[in-house]
Amino acid sequence: MPNTRICIIGAGAAGLSTAYFLKKQGYQNVTLLEKAGRVGGLCCSITHNSRSFDLGANYLTPAYKQVLKIAEEVGAKLYSEGAGQIYNPFKSTPGNPYYTSILKAVTAGTDPVTFFAAIARFWWERLNLEPILSVPGFAGISLHPELTQPFSNWLAQKDLTCLETLFEIPITTFGYGPLQEIPTAYALKYITPETFGTLISYGADINFGWPKRFVDGFQRFWERVAWGLNVRLNIDIQQIQRGATIQVTFTEQEQIIDEIEPRQEVLEFDYLVLACPLTLDVLNKFLDLSTTEKGLFEQIVLNPYSLTTYLIPDLQMPAPVTNVIPVNAEGNPWFISQQFLDNDLIAFYTRLDREGKLTKKDVIQGVQKTLENLGVQVDDHYYTYDQWPYFPHVSSEAMQAGFYDRLEALQGQRQTFYVGGLLNFELVETIVEYSQALVKKNF
Ligand SMILES: Cc1cc2nc3c(=O)[nH]c(=O)nc-3n(C[C@H](O)[C@H](O)[C@H](O)COP(=O)(O)OP(=O)(O)OC[C@H]3O[C@@H](n4cnc5c(N)ncnc54)[C@H](O)[C@@H]3O)c2cc1C
Repeated sequence: MPNTRICIIGAGAAGLSTAYFLKKQGYQNVTLLEKAGRVGGLCCSITHNSRSFDLGANYLTPAYKQVLKIAEEVGAKLYSEGAGQIYNPFKSTPGNPYYTSILKAVTAGTDPVTFFAAIARFWWERLNLEPILSVPGFAGISLHPELTQPFSNWLAQKDLTCLETLFEIPITTFGYGPLQEIPTAYALKYITPETFGTLISYGADINFGWPKRFVDGFQRFWERVAWGLNVRLNIDIQQIQRGATIQVTFTEQEQIIDEIEPRQEVLEFDYLVLACPLTLDVLNKFLDLSTTEKGLFEQIVLNPYSLTTYLIPDLQMPAPVTNVIPVNAEGNPWFISQQFLDNDLIAFYTRLDREGKLTKKDVIQGVQKTLENLGVQVDDHYYTYDQWPYFPHVSSEAMQAGFYDRLEALQGQRQTFYVGGLLNFELVETIVEYSQALVKKNF
């Protein structure tokens, strides 16, 4: 067993956590093959003026039990995020940004007694769903049609519609889609009782010390985990053949004096773990997908999300975190972060359209327009720009039709396993929980 050969494709949160738990279980022959020149995937950090900034995953709440445990083990330090506020683009004009408190924005139109009673009722409903939602994965979710319907329908059924603006902050402005679209099971998997507590205390400006970020950034947390794992970077996988064994053909980079040259290698494994995006355009490049795999993975929808940073010494935001409410049009920023108020790096999070009609130029123009309202002019020279393949998920209809039962039934067939955001929701903690459960069950 310790020598079982396991190949993991992708060294993001899913691949690294799977390798980490396999190692804990005694597996010594685990290889991670990563396309990029760094580990972390959507956990991506940079350093500017001696401080770390997150360009991908950033927050942890008290619900992040596994991640917090590993962080302690690898010595990754955390700090508390600063205050938040709301920016309303529709009430702003050039040079006159309209800011308000989160509490004021989320309670607008509802009297405080009704609002706080709704909070208590939501908490109760969510606690009662813990036996279903705390199990990693969504197997059997089709047996609960109330959880596969869009989240706004569920809120209406429970007479909790007055909480919609509150939920739009972590769900819609963070790129998980409109509440009329996201299936309830995803929304409630995300909003655990602990995360809801964090949301309420944060919105009410009560400082309990959460949410937190990693001092050195989320990517550097994963780098610490990766130090103890067999990760090969800059790998271009050409073909994976699944027969009696798994045969992986790839190229790796070699330095020959001043040149970097590819060298082809073929390795054999007993098991394959796919921890890269499970979309057809990624997998079709190297994998002989079965009809069942194709039928499932073609149903995956992404919410592409971009992050643009600018260095703007002339701008100091009133708070480190600015949520844009009411939700802006696609192509305009939905979330603005000045992680350190004494630092000039400002990040703009923008939801893109699925059809790919919105271009990078549109996003930059959206940022520039927002900055004009905030009182500064910038040119096209941004600092960083990334477009992430974010939130792999399926529609309410596909979830109700048993997508997850079929996906779970596929685990282990043809010696192949699947991990990542699709399986248990696009958050680092849920991904890590799933990897742990998969390793425990199958290895
Ligand atoms: C802007 C943003 C903010 C976020 N904020 C938070 C947050 O606050 N808290 C939170 O918990 N989560 C957050 N997330 C979500 C979190 O980052 C993701 O859920 C998680 O990092 C996804 O991990 P993964 O391993 O499933 O996928 P990925 O991170 O996408 O990893 C997949 C890996 O596979 C590699 N790969 C792809 N193709 C190949 C190939 N052909 N061969 C080899 N390797 C390949 C990729 O390079 C990548 O390293 C955020 C994400 C974004 C984009």
